Amino acid sequence: MNSLKQIKLITLPDKSSVFFMNSQIPYFSLNRQMEFLREEIYNAIHQVIDSTEFTFGRFIETFEREFASYCGTDYCVGVSSGTSALQLALLSIGIQQGDEVILPGNTFFATPAAVSHCGGIPVFVDCEKDTWNIDPEKIIPQITSKTKAIIGVHLYGETFNYAKLRKITSDNGLLLLEDASQAHGTKINGIMSGNLSDIGCFSFFPSKNLGAFGEAGAVVTNNKDWSEKIKMLRNYGMKQKFSHEEIGFNMKMDSIQAAVLTVKLKYLNEWNRKRRQIASKFLNEVNNPLITFQHKPIWADHVYHLLVITSNERQRLIEFLNNKNIFPAQHYPIPCHLQKAYSFLNYNIGDLPNAERLASECLSLPLFPEMEEEVIDYVIDTLNRYE
Ligand SMILES: *Cc1c(COP(=O)(O)O)cnc(C)c1O
Repeated sequence: MNSLKQIKLITLPDKSSVFFMNSQIPYFSLNRQMEFLREEIYNAIHQVIDSTEFTFGRFIETFEREFASYCGTDYCVGVSSGTSALQLALLSIGIQQGDEVILPGNTFFATPAAVSHCGGIPVFVDCEKDTWNIDPEKIIPQITSKTKAIIGVHLYGETFNYAKLRKITSDNGLLLLEDASQAHGTKINGIMSGNLSDIGCFSFFPSKNLGAFGEAGAVVTNNKDWSEKIKMLRNYGMKQKFSHEEIGFNMKMDSIQAAVLTVKLKYLNEWNRKRRQIASKFLNEVNNPLITFQHKPIWADHVYHLLVITSNERQRLIEFLNNKNIFPAQHYPIPCHLQKAYSFLNYNIGDLPNAERLASECLSLPLFPEMEEEVIDYVIDTLNRYE
């Protein structure tokens, strides 16, 4: 049966051969989405080119207005990447030299890097054993007189325990930031991610649930002062032309990215719906005891930016899957606190046991909205055959 299915995959009609990239099933692919969007995106990009408004102006303003409205926030500021969104958000709330910012050890490296770029000190906290999101119980002992903020990361698209983090930040006079780079469109009690905290940061890296055609990011907030400060900082620290209030950056979003994102935003809910549908098929049908999925508490939402499993003999599972033409990925194989770049913080192996275990066992399965039923069935079937 297995070989039959594989032959079927290889001999799929023309359109699908692009998708399989030599009949390999990647963990992620944009080819199908591009086919679907081609005409609309070409038109949007042509409009930018014909207008010659490559930066500033109406394309950025339109996207900022529409994304703020999508998130339910008063303000959105488009920036050059998720990393710059985090850095500018931290600067806008006043993070400076020596300030401590608490965040999970198992996140993409950009989260702590942004803290460091402000002169702050990232304080890494372990994740929960099953949700893989930051463990609220482990935050409290890390709070010191230097702590200014907590960054929650909605890991893989699953909302962190925002109610508990909210309580911790308000009890301790701290600010709560969201790194929502993997969670565009998640919602709790009707509130969108990005708006679950004081200030929300998004990446629009091409592989995210809402991805640009290059690099882009955004900050959303209901705080006018912070949004204005970010607008100033992204534009060389200028409020008025050639009058520099601060030593700012060039971290503006460009118009082509804004135009592309405005088109793609219309489809985000539909793509997320498909991601949820595919993920629930995996969750219902994969019944292999050697494979563990991310736990989702009832109150949590998930947009399955990544469908991650753990398995304690990861390398053996990877080889098994590769032999069946399935190519999973790893997010992320080294936790932030053990990265060479942070060796000066003197963390040791064993400091964040759950994050470390996740790093050594995690595997991101193929999941994207355009995945076909047959391919989903094939991957599920293959996972169930692993022993
Ligand atoms: C992608 C990502 C970022 C970085 O975004 P860039 O746009 O690549 O700078 C930050 N945090 C998390 C959690 C991410 O997934």
